[in-house]
Amino acid sequence: MLTILRRIYHYLNPLQHIGETKYSYAFPLIVTSLTALILQLIFVFIVRDIKAVGLYAIIIFLGLIVYFAFREGKKGGFITVALTTLYYIYLTYALHYSGDHLISAIDTLVTLAILYLILAGVIGWLKEVIDKLVEQEVDEKRRLQAIIEQLPVGVLVTDDKGRVVQGNKRLDLILGIKIPLGFLLGRDTLQNDPTNEYQLTPATSPLLRSLANGKTVLRREYEYIRNDKKKLFLEISSSPIRNRAGKLIAAASIISDVTAQKELELRKDDFVNMASHELKTPITSLKLYVGSLTGHDHEFDDRTMRILRGMKNQTDKLQELVEDLLDVSRIQTGKLQFRKERFRLDMLVKEIVGELSTLSKQEMKIMKAAAVTIYADKFRIYQVMTNLLTNAMKYSPSDRKIIVAVTKNGADAVVSIQDFGIGIPKDQRRKIFERLHQAGDTLPGQTFPGLGMGLYISREIVRRHSGKIWVESILGEGSTFFVSLPYMKT
Ligand code: ADP
Repeated sequence: MLTILRRIYHYLNPLQHIGETKYSYAFPLIVTSLTALILQLIFVFIVRDIKAVGLYAIIIFLGLIVYFAFREGKKGGFITVALTTLYYIYLTYALHYSGDHLISAIDTLVTLAILYLILAGVIGWLKEVIDKLVEQEVDEKRRLQAIIEQLPVGVLVTDDKGRVVQGNKRLDLILGIKIPLGFLLGRDTLQNDPTNEYQLTPATSPLLRSLANGKTVLRREYEYIRNDKKKLFLEISSSPIRNRAGKLIAAASIISDVTAQKELELRKDDFVNMASHELKTPITSLKLYVGSLTGHDHEFDDRTMRILRGMKNQTDKLQELVEDLLDVSRIQTGKLQFRKERFRLDMLVKEIVGELSTLSKQEMKIMKAAAVTIYADKFRIYQVMTNLLTNAMKYSPSDRKIIVAVTKNGADAVVSIQDFGIGIPKDQRRKIFERLHQAGDTLPGQTFPGLGMGLYISREIVRRHSGKIWVESILGEGSTFFVSLPYMKT
């Protein structure tokens, strides 16, 4: 019974028909004709005074015209106006008006008909415009939903409060659970809560953070245990959505499952780790053998000695490479360890510059060397400085200088190494410190050997000493690398 009533209410309520662009002729036709008939019957047989119908008829038909124009558009309105006018004509005829009465009745009839027509026209037109707009919006939403469904990533859209308003099947597949529409992020919970601790507070949820501060969050990584107990790596980006006035109205998140890539990366890391460990022993032996041979130079002729020295050189390079690979593995697995001691940084820098300037084609100059003592792993700091200096040698022409300085800045000792070489493009200045990143050939036709491990290792070492490493550079004119480390006040 209740559902029938609800259906009738639904059918009669014009607001329920907004957005429907199919308009009915029959419904206004039947209802208006029946109304006229019922009025006629009531006033002829019950009230027994057909003259009294006038005011009631005006009010009732006015209501019907407004209702049908709003429900069925211009057509509905005009049909109702046409039937109403016919009924009024019939009434005028049935009342046998004559003379002045007839003229004033016709006057009223024409005025009412015109007013009704205007009213039906305006309301019907407005209703049709609204319907079109609503239809367009619904179409737009459908189009968007179709696109979202095709995306290979999970999508989650919330309103400005964090309430879910849109999602896609891919998201359900990734999470292994469906987040229902209306779910309030940060408050509601599901049985197996996918929005677990990582995503719940503005501090940890990219989506809530976008809503809280209006900023885009890019490619945050999260570990997620799905309810089939599989551990996934998810990469989540989110951005706020604003309306034309700039007001924050929603936020959208893109969730991709990067587990396969992550696992491949881990396997690659494992392989590099294993390979470098396996290579270390034979290379060390090789070095020893070559070393023992080059030690007996009186036993060999010049040609053999040249070959032996070449072998020694290449073995040294190989060993450095393997050491770098091992360092990268140590960093990845958190096993990079330090043996810290107090030493004079300026002295160490002078020592390295002394060693390298014998090998360097460029002139190396120490501009300033403030006396600073630091507490650090000397070998590792040596490694950082050597890396920066050999880079300066590698990436600048032989007729340019390399300028080194050790200064104090607040609580930090700062080493700067300036070259006048190829420089580093702006977009690469951060990336070169990432793992296995090379800036690419900046000069046409010129290539530089290397695997892009040095700066990554250097950055890790400096960071783990509570220091900073950065670069300032002008492309084509040169670069200055800076390392700052807290110094000891003795
Ligand atoms: P590698 O030199 O073995 O490639 P690094 O990690 O030491 O690895 O350096 C990473 C990248 O940074 C280099 O490939 C190079 O493109 C860029 N780079 C480093 N130092 C300099 C420099 N002094 N001048 C110009 N480019 C540099």
